[in-house]
Amino acid sequence: MLLTNNLGYPRVGPFRELKKANEAYWAKKISAEELLKAAKEIRENNWKTQKEAGIDLIPSNDFSFYDQVLDLSLTVGAIPARYNSLLSKVDNNYSLDLYFAMARGFQEDGIDVTASEMTKWFDTNYHYMVPEFTKDQTFKLTSEKFLNEYNEAKAAGIETKPVVIGPITYLLIGKEKEAGFDRIDLIDRLLPVYEEIISKLADAGAQYIQIDEPYLALDIDAKVKELYTKVFEKLNAAAKGAKLIATTYFEALKDNEDLAVSLPVHALHLDLVRGENQLDTVLAKVPASLTLSLGVVEGRNIWKNDYEKSLAKIQQAVAALDKDRVWVGTSSSLLHVPYDLDSEKKEETLPAEVKNWLAFAKQKLAEVKDLAVLADGEVDAATAERFEANKAAAESRRTSPLIHKPEVKTRVSNITDEDAKRTSPFEVRKVAQQAKFNLPAFPTTTIGSFPQTKDVRKWRADLKKGVITQEEYDKAIAEETESVIRLQENLDIDVLVHGEFERNDMVEYFGEQLAGYAFTQYGWVQSYGSRCVKPPVIYGDVYRPADMTVRWSSYAQSLTDRPVKGMLTGPVTILQWSFVRNDQPRETTTYQIALAILDEVQALEKAGIKIIQIDEPAIREGLPLRQADQQKYLDWAVRAFRVSSSNVEDDTQIHTHMCYSEFNNVIKDIAAMDADVITIETSRSQMKLLNAFAGEFKYPNDIGPGVYDIHSPRVPSKEEMIDLLHKAKDVVPASQLWVNPDCGLKTRAWPETKAALEAMVEAAKVLRAEA
Ligand code: GLN
Ligand code: ZN
Repeated sequence: MLLTNNLGYPRVGPFRELKKANEAYWAKKISAEELLKAAKEIRENNWKTQKEAGIDLIPSNDFSFYDQVLDLSLTVGAIPARYNSLLSKVDNNYSLDLYFAMARGFQEDGIDVTASEMTKWFDTNYHYMVPEFTKDQTFKLTSEKFLNEYNEAKAAGIETKPVVIGPITYLLIGKEKEAGFDRIDLIDRLLPVYEEIISKLADAGAQYIQIDEPYLALDIDAKVKELYTKVFEKLNAAAKGAKLIATTYFEALKDNEDLAVSLPVHALHLDLVRGENQLDTVLAKVPASLTLSLGVVEGRNIWKNDYEKSLAKIQQAVAALDKDRVWVGTSSSLLHVPYDLDSEKKEETLPAEVKNWLAFAKQKLAEVKDLAVLADGEVDAATAERFEANKAAAESRRTSPLIHKPEVKTRVSNITDEDAKRTSPFEVRKVAQQAKFNLPAFPTTTIGSFPQTKDVRKWRADLKKGVITQEEYDKAIAEETESVIRLQENLDIDVLVHGEFERNDMVEYFGEQLAGYAFTQYGWVQSYGSRCVKPPVIYGDVYRPADMTVRWSSYAQSLTDRPVKGMLTGPVTILQWSFVRNDQPRETTTYQIALAILDEVQALEKAGIKIIQIDEPAIREGLPLRQADQQKYLDWAVRAFRVSSSNVEDDTQIHTHMCYSEFNNVIKDIAAMDADVITIETSRSQMKLLNAFAGEFKYPNDIGPGVYDIHSPRVPSKEEMIDLLHKAKDVVPASQLWVNPDCGLKTRAWPETKAALEAMVEAAKVLRAEA
């Protein structure tokens, strides 16, 4: 019988129980004991669910209160010095205060320390706490969470496979906090702690141990390659017979294949979703001692598995290796998908036909089991029936008119280079736009949203619940919009916004109005800590059945003589923040969205909205993990943006906005987007990010570098902003500069917003006077 292998399970709880417990603990509304109890329940339910689904290799130590990388930093004692004041609170288990201090910062009892930095876990939307290393970094076993959870499962009658992020990946995802050393060289100091971890697990009776080394499937240099063999030899020796699983995901092994199959481990796990084509070459190389774990059930998306396709792969491996050396598994941890499709009951937003194409974590476990049974050959009636149902679902997805709209597909295939290019070059447009808007030097604007107060959020909730009527809601939104138009006039801002009061967020608002989108009720996935997102689902060809933003933008424009910016989200960001189709390339889906956005841009233009901002904060996060694939992505992502924004008059001014990003390696691509104005987040870097725009390559169009940090309620002084603008003027010609905050103001309160904007406009006026 083929063994079934699950790499990790979501841990926020099916109804975000952990989020609620964490937040209650932080607010001091529940005790540590209550929090620990809530966590224990989640773990036990997860293990039970997996056991009942027939999973053989059930993960433990995949639970985390906040983040598994932070857990590991605490385990190996990589605790930055600034937390020393809290160290007295560390015991050998879980020191919640220290742990949450590292996660969220700590400001109490006269102690004031900042949180660890957070960044994206590979190309997912999950954020981890970046390990910080110093030259003299030492490591020491500081927590036995891995052991406690293994023992806890055992006590509950469940044998598990502890999961540990591998030492090389752990070092590589961290950051050097001082110059003069390479963090990978810390490996010799780190390894003994890992040997201790492995050895303790083996002593406790663990039969299998999963070592996550996603870097084995990424671009690594010769030095790191060499380390892999050495590291696994040590770990293997410490394992005393416990079986190690070198686990890769998110990419194919590619140039690391030879290395990976030669590692001294019991099993090697492959992501056969992302690395669909690697099985042939890997099979040709696998030594007789190695078992392969086939990640065929996708951990990154919510589609039903295509059993026929997966089965072909499993059978190919079985033919080459035999059943006892082939496992069936998830492609990655299921952390990135929601819990349970069965909780979804709302037919209006998730039609039955669409629901029948989906599988969440619990359903994916059943798929892994089904595939193992089918590959084994002794198929019971129930599994055979599910196989038929699976084929029918796959067939319905291939042909359903709910998905396939020939007009949309034709329109995408007819996109020409002309469609992806403005009629005139920027210099010509700039003159036409200046004639049209007659803006002063250093024009002022904001990024779109104004404070989403309790009232605003309550109106939306009340409308959903039916407590207020659509008319009442519209009236409230209209009044709020009018009041920010008056405010911006009084502040003397040059290019106004309508405030985005009608929107909940940047993607759902558009998804709800586009065809091809479905929504879940409980489709939460962890983004960071207690924060979860509920990405909408793109299941079909996307188009725009009706105007989306024209009404509120036109209304706002009707109230004032100053230009009001139309406000849209760009195609790449809409794609990135949704669950996307796997039955066509991402590129095709993005072009479909781009055409829908173009339709809206043109509708706005026709309605007299002549400045239109298309936000693309997610363009950089879509970058593929392997460098060799990155330019191709950038090319189509930029082109999709251009398709959405090019077919307009010369004197229509297109803005785009991006949040904090490193622009250094992509500045030419950003320039190729050819937005007339780009606004970016620069205040916290003291304008250093602007250097990317003025290196050897000079960014040609207009730029609005953010002059104040909107993530903090702190009101910056006029002088600080003048200082930042001087810095900006030193690198970018004044004629190219706009003046604006870093990002939207929706998370801010009114008093600080008014004060900061007032100072911002004054700063711009000082710069004008200097010229
Ligand atoms: N227009 C959006 C806003 O102001 C942009 C948000 C973002 O870049 N994340 O809220
Ligand atoms: Zn932003």
